[in-house]
Amino acid sequence: MASSFRRVCIVLRLHHQFLSLALVCVLSGIQGAMVKGETVRGAPKATTAIKVDQVGYPIDGPKVALISVAAGSPAQSFELRQTSNDAVVWKGKPSAPVADSDTGDQVQAADFSSFHKVGTYYIEVPDVGRSWNFMLGKNVFEHAYYMAMRGFYGQRCGTAVDMGPEFPGYSHPACHLKGGFHVSSGTSGPRDNPGGWHDAGDYGRYMVNSGISTGTLLWAWEIYGRQLKGIDLKIPESGNGTPDILNEARWNLEWMLKMQDSDGGVWHKQTSVHFSEFVAPQDDHLPSEVIGTGSAPFKSTCATADLASVGAIAARVYKPYDAKLATRALDAARQAFAWTEKNPNVIFRNPKGISTGEYGDANCSDERLWAAAELYRATGEKVYSDYFVANYAAFLPKLDSPPSESWSQVAPMGMWTYALTRRVQTDKPAVDAIRQRTIAAAQAVVTRTHGSGYINSMKTSDYVWGSNGVAAGYGMYLLIANQFAPNREFVDTARDNLHYILGRNTFSLSWVTQLGENPFIHPHQRPSGASHLPAPWPGLMSGGPDRGRNDAILAALPKDTPPAKIYADQQASFASNEICINWQAALVFLLAGELR
Ligand SMILES: [Zn+2]
Repeated sequence: MASSFRRVCIVLRLHHQFLSLALVCVLSGIQGAMVKGETVRGAPKATTAIKVDQVGYPIDGPKVALISVAAGSPAQSFELRQTSNDAVVWKGKPSAPVADSDTGDQVQAADFSSFHKVGTYYIEVPDVGRSWNFMLGKNVFEHAYYMAMRGFYGQRCGTAVDMGPEFPGYSHPACHLKGGFHVSSGTSGPRDNPGGWHDAGDYGRYMVNSGISTGTLLWAWEIYGRQLKGIDLKIPESGNGTPDILNEARWNLEWMLKMQDSDGGVWHKQTSVHFSEFVAPQDDHLPSEVIGTGSAPFKSTCATADLASVGAIAARVYKPYDAKLATRALDAARQAFAWTEKNPNVIFRNPKGISTGEYGDANCSDERLWAAAELYRATGEKVYSDYFVANYAAFLPKLDSPPSESWSQVAPMGMWTYALTRRVQTDKPAVDAIRQRTIAAAQAVVTRTHGSGYINSMKTSDYVWGSNGVAAGYGMYLLIANQFAPNREFVDTARDNLHYILGRNTFSLSWVTQLGENPFIHPHQRPSGASHLPAPWPGLMSGGPDRGRNDAILAALPKDTPPAKIYADQQASFASNEICINWQAALVFLLAGELR
């Protein structure tokens, strides 16, 4: 962590319609005079009517805050003030109000892009109030990346976890060591359980969600490795000679490899038979069991193909650091792909007696496409390229409606990795089609984002369960397009989605725990729910608004609540405040793209 300060502060905090007192928050990089326990200067007066990225803005990029105003009384001016002394360093005039239909807000943009001095600031709007503090700097998102990656460390299963002196009390002894093979797995007996990340706020470990999550982190390394290499995540493996993002991803990779049966097939998940109560990890005594399909061949095609994909990426990225692991991962990937050729679409549904997250997917052809592409990129062997070239065309339309990739739809990952393949020959028509369609769709996203009140890429239909993952997914899509055709607008628009997640939204809320002055505080996540600590476990991204109202809290919100406001910072609102490793991985990718 270069040039990063973190100080604990106590702030008064307006949260939705009620005042919540004495939230412990952590500020990053604030170069003022705050010490532990000191009130942030002016922060108690901050208004949620002004929305800023609570982490900050790169010094050389666009810098826009948003102001939501009552209809008919727009703000006439705004000031940028230095936090340390309240000095006005810039004055400007906000844009005319724009009606944002997804929130019902009248939004004005306060653009201070031409201000270029590093420091910590806030926005003041006469008759409206002041914003949360934020930084302007060269590498403002490094600490956010560190927090989001350590969020994964905090999710480790089967081992003692301790977030260290930076987050005292955020620790637990080894968990979920008991368990074995559930009858649905087609085998029996005990099992060596450690490894993997808890997911979805519970204590399950899920192969298909691990696929896209681990794959995304390893891609972040492949694309942004130069910027990530030196960042110390303060995890047990730090300093072992391997970059920490690869150390952390390995924790889940090793578990994924253990989920492979001797015939090459991969079991779908490892969970208890039902969800535990909201207890700490070490207090969940339900056995953690390997769950299969319940009938031969017991393993599922989607899970198996996902291991093939991740194993192939791992073979590429770990080779310089641990050649044995790279070989082991590649062997597993080859065997997994071969299993899917014999078992092209074995679907998983929760077997009798199992009620944990299903991650059912009726079609595993996209997972197989991704696996073939990653294996070709890793090996250059014709058999994998032939499979890809014979099958990709049916998936091209998926690229036309970004972000389009999800845990159950990984065809974009397959197409992009094929188009990113170097050193071995690829099929030119396939690569051209993938690149052109991705670039065209990214340009359409840029245009739409510029026209939206909250300057994000979200359509009304995107406010689904996990909508913050969709926002991060747009960012990832745009950054991939930038790999194909470098374009400042793609990068800036990807960052606009990051700004939305980090506070430039209707709630003026940072959707990452313990990041920014006004972060959400009640994730649907068992370790946070079971603890008596003043803030949730750090670095975790909320799922965000869900217009589908898939839980009782959201269902009870007023009928006329606009889609982007169907959110509740409550633990029980699993449909809007759950945390998931796949959304978290997209956030990491987006942050990795910001590092300099
Ligand atoms: Zn555990």
